[in-house]
Amino acid sequence: MDCLFCAIAAKKITADIVYEDDKVVAFNDIDPKAPTHILVIPRKHIATINDMETDDKELLGHMAYTAKSIAAEKGFAEDGFRLAMNCNGHGGQTVFHIHLHMLGERQLSWPPG
Ligand code: 5GP
Ligand code: ZN
Repeated sequence: MDCLFCAIAAKKITADIVYEDDKVVAFNDIDPKAPTHILVIPRKHIATINDMETDDKELLGHMAYTAKSIAAEKGFAEDGFRLAMNCNGHGGQTVFHIHLHMLGERQLSWPPG
């Protein structure tokens, strides 16, 4: 399967990895939209959030837990941050392997564009 984020998880393509374990990999976004912009991905290929199955619930929770742990470790958890997942066209998804965006270390506005 030709998937960019599977290739990053398998280290066939280089990324600036900040955390990894047996279920997830977290790395800096190549085109950051905030001083900290990290993507948390599952090692398992799931194309979009629409493809999430019942058995993936714990995995998605682990992705969120990973993000909050990184925010705490980097020291911006109390200031706040944003977690976002884009789905398909209207969501603005461009890479079809689910990923949790974590944006931090600047004031973010709402609603997003
Ligand atoms: P999406 O638009 O699908 O929600 O987000 C995809 C994200 O992946 C974008 O923020 C984009 O900058 C990032 N991205 C795309 N290609 C690469 C890459 O090769 N390496 C890294 N680190 N990030 C990438
Ligand atoms: Zn993939």
